Amino acid sequence: MDFSLTEDQKMLKTMVQEFAQRELLPVAREDDRNGYYRPEIIKKMAGLGLVADMLPQEYGGSSLSNTSHAIIVEEIGRVNFAYVVSVFMVQLCLVELSLLRWGTKEQKDRYLSRLAAGELLGCFGAVEPNVGSDAGAVETTASLDKDGWVLNGTKTWITNASIADIAIILAKTEKSEGKGGITTFLIDTKTPGFSAREIKGKLGIRATNTAEVFLDNCRLPRENVLGEVGHGLKVALSAIDNARFTMAAGCVGIAQACIDASVKYAQARRQFNRYIGQFQLIQEMIADTIVETEAARHLVYRVGYLRDNGLPYSRETAIAKYYASKVAMQAADRAIQVHGGYSYSDEFPVERYYRDARVAPLFAGTNEIQKLIIAQHALGLNAVT
Ligand SMILES: Cc1cc2nc3c(=O)[nH]c(=O)nc-3n(C[C@H](O)[C@H](O)[C@H](O)COP(=O)(O)OP(=O)(O)OC[C@H]3O[C@@H](n4cnc5c(N)ncnc54)[C@H](O)[C@@H]3O)c2cc1C
Repeated sequence: MDFSLTEDQKMLKTMVQEFAQRELLPVAREDDRNGYYRPEIIKKMAGLGLVADMLPQEYGGSSLSNTSHAIIVEEIGRVNFAYVVSVFMVQLCLVELSLLRWGTKEQKDRYLSRLAAGELLGCFGAVEPNVGSDAGAVETTASLDKDGWVLNGTKTWITNASIADIAIILAKTEKSEGKGGITTFLIDTKTPGFSAREIKGKLGIRATNTAEVFLDNCRLPRENVLGEVGHGLKVALSAIDNARFTMAAGCVGIAQACIDASVKYAQARRQFNRYIGQFQLIQEMIADTIVETEAARHLVYRVGYLRDNGLPYSRETAIAKYYASKVAMQAADRAIQVHGGYSYSDEFPVERYYRDARVAPLFAGTNEIQKLIIAQHALGLNAVT
């Protein structure tokens, strides 16, 4: 087993670190305060080939491995987790990789290169007001008439939705077929009948756009189906598996940021006539976070290895996401403690890490769902999702 990064991966890590320090860090606090998503950042990331790191070059991608993707995402998450969610989980994993795997040649040719270049922004709508973890229960309907599909329903908590150019939407096409009757559709968000309203006042990842989506007799041509009619749940589950891996890598980034901030503060803050880093109880908090972060990083790299080698990865992805999200929350909680009262304002970034980390056990399958997947694999039962 080789745990070392290649020379190319070391250079990639340094390049992304420099980009994040230059472009993400200076505006992170301001954008978090204002709940502002910066469209120019995705274009700058695209210029470095990051927005489509795993896409083939024929579609404007960088053809990088999954492990290299994890390295990139960790470094972005280390500075501003909001962009892990909006760019890497949603734009890349939920939208670009779904199109790559399930799209027709015409759909790929029309959208992929422009998504990779950051010219188009995408969103992915599975969740609804009454439907969350049980994605097979979607209430949004799609019916076929002589002119094509007509969609009606509401989606909620959809990242990028009120600024997106295209949306992938899950809808029920055949009521009688239960989970088999779901289909995914590609929608140009300018289509009449598609509208979105931003959700304000989020706990964390405030520099992301999150919105409700309303489909009111939204008419689509027949060819706007993504994948096969009735097989939408397969599309959704493969997309969520990709996003789950990315979420885990981003959580390692938050945890690493907590270590960086805690070490820096412990070396500067003095109490009882010495640096607080000299107190063993502070050292214990830093040591525990280092141990857990390294363990989480190796779980993420294991998923990267499995994906790169065409091996099954769903169980291992659930393990990595479940553990890394817990590590990120615990790391942020300890970093707050190391910083004492100063942690309680955004003068220091640790309160943002604490709020941002909290989305990780909720999105890309809640942590309860991850535990069900892990246990059901062990018990030989059908996974819940
Ligand atoms: C900031 C943010 C961005 C998001 N972006 C997107 C997006 O871009 N696209 C999208 O489609 N969705 C998005 N979501 C929605 C997210 O995927 C859902 O919140 C998530 O799937 C959980 O669904 P729910 O919130 O309806 O919770 P529910 O499913 O109602 O769950 C509530 C609680 O019950 C538990 N629970 C549910 N079922 C079981 C079970 N079988 N066994 C044990 N416990 C169970 C859950 O774990 C949870 O603790 C986003 C959410 C947030 C917060």
